[in-house]
Amino acid sequence: MTAEPIKKIVIVGGGTAGWMTAAYLAHWLDGVDIQVTLVESDQIGTIGVGEATVPGIRQFIKTLEISESEFINATNATFKLGIEFEHWAGEGKNFFHPFGGYGARLEDRSFHKTWWAARQAGYTDGLEEFCLCTQLAKAGKFAQPSFEDKSRLAWYNYAYHFDASAFARYLRNYAERRGVIRTEGKVNHIQLDTANGFIQHLSLESGQIIDGDLFVDCTGIPALLINKTMGVGYEDWSHWLPCDSALAVQTNSVTEPDPYTRSSARTAGWQWHIPLQHRVGNGYVYSSPFISHEQARAELLANLAGEPLTEPKLIRFTTGMRPDFWHKNCVAIGLSSGFLEPLESTSISLIQTGIAKMTGFLVNFIIDEKQVAEANRLNRLEYERIRDFIILHYKLNGRSNPFWEHVRAMSIPLTLEEKIAAYKAGGDIKLLAQESFVEESWVSMFYGFGMAPEALLPLSDPAAIPLVMNKMKSAIGKGTALAASHAEFLQSIDN
Ligand code: FAD
Repeated sequence: MTAEPIKKIVIVGGGTAGWMTAAYLAHWLDGVDIQVTLVESDQIGTIGVGEATVPGIRQFIKTLEISESEFINATNATFKLGIEFEHWAGEGKNFFHPFGGYGARLEDRSFHKTWWAARQAGYTDGLEEFCLCTQLAKAGKFAQPSFEDKSRLAWYNYAYHFDASAFARYLRNYAERRGVIRTEGKVNHIQLDTANGFIQHLSLESGQIIDGDLFVDCTGIPALLINKTMGVGYEDWSHWLPCDSALAVQTNSVTEPDPYTRSSARTAGWQWHIPLQHRVGNGYVYSSPFISHEQARAELLANLAGEPLTEPKLIRFTTGMRPDFWHKNCVAIGLSSGFLEPLESTSISLIQTGIAKMTGFLVNFIIDEKQVAEANRLNRLEYERIRDFIILHYKLNGRSNPFWEHVRAMSIPLTLEEKIAAYKAGGDIKLLAQESFVEESWVSMFYGFGMAPEALLPLSDPAAIPLVMNKMKSAIGKGTALAASHAEFLQSIDN
């Protein structure tokens, strides 16, 4: 598609997606003769949400050779060990989705199968008792995992909650120090080459023209380049994920920050609680056919722990994805490429993997049709896998009112139907290609929603196995007792 290697990359948009892309490219292109320019408009601003992450973010920080402590202090970050789901399985019923595993393999099968077999034989301790990550979270504690420890008992990972504006500022500074040129201005025209449909240049309101070889669309939901100009379209998934609105509000902190995100089911959706060091991010994600914006606003404000620091901000969205995130010489990264509601905090991770695909498939800095097609294929799979995982939360819910009954009854993608069927039959987790969530994540959902496998081999030794399990539980208890509180751990971090 391009015979010559690219020389100029232009990023449009300076939100989380734009500055993550700029920072990554600055690092990746160190010593390479390719100029990176980022255009952003203060007039338009950023979406201003997106503060909870998944563990992959740690790799991003590491790749950019950013010190974790400096990053935490610069972004007022806290640690995240997973997500507490309140009332999803029914009013008053809560469960935890940890970034960690359950127990150690026994009887040559995954631990959760042994646990279910033990439960059927009368064992009473919950599966969560065998997860160090969950136990630390419940105790409000945090410890750096020992990644060298080979024991499955000690295996867990973590992510962060951070201030999105501070994160973008930090990355901007990082990128500019490494040669990225920032241009302030609103793009008002994009010129396509009439011969091949490639983007030739952008025009700003000031009259400035910016030309480039590769354009990265980080303009957020409007998708100015990839859709408004190039018309790649959008695949709408709202029949599976009918939430279409969010109200976001910041509050002051009234307790020590939890080392986890909280997601509480509400009338027609769910409310997030993301604790940072200096404040809390809150929001209500809901389906507007089932609740008015005014009612949602009232429900959100009635369920805040602290005092609001901002006016609730309404954000409208349609769940889905672009059929192609990479089209000719334009790559969409961030909200311009698609959106899956923030239930599992996956958007920033999709920014990261979008950047990885763009750079990974830009072999020798040439835009090649086959490489672009493969990047698009993998991107679709990744989106679909996350989509299925998020739908699962709704499909298995145990609540009773019109919204929740609707999502429980709705038809679901075949790929998800097959996963549920495999688990129901014998406790198997059928992971597919490009899966973002590992076996333990799926196990935590099925367990949390109270779904037991229908047929399992009984315990090989009904007397000895529960004793081994008790030993695991007690080792986890000791590990939890040794850890510092999350607040103490944060205080101990120096630059
Ligand atoms: P934006 O932040 O909207 O940035 C767009 C940029 O484009 C801005 O700089 C704007 O000025 C610029 N721009 C637009 N048009 C022009 C123009 N014509 N000329 C020049 N510049 C232009 N993700 C997570 O991972 N975790 C979460 O917890 C999470 N929570 C979310 C909650 C909600 C309710 C929503 C809607 C999203 C959430 N996300 C979350 C997603 C996350 O917010 C985004 O993925 C992330 O902020 C990236 O946004 P962006 O940079 O693509 O877009």
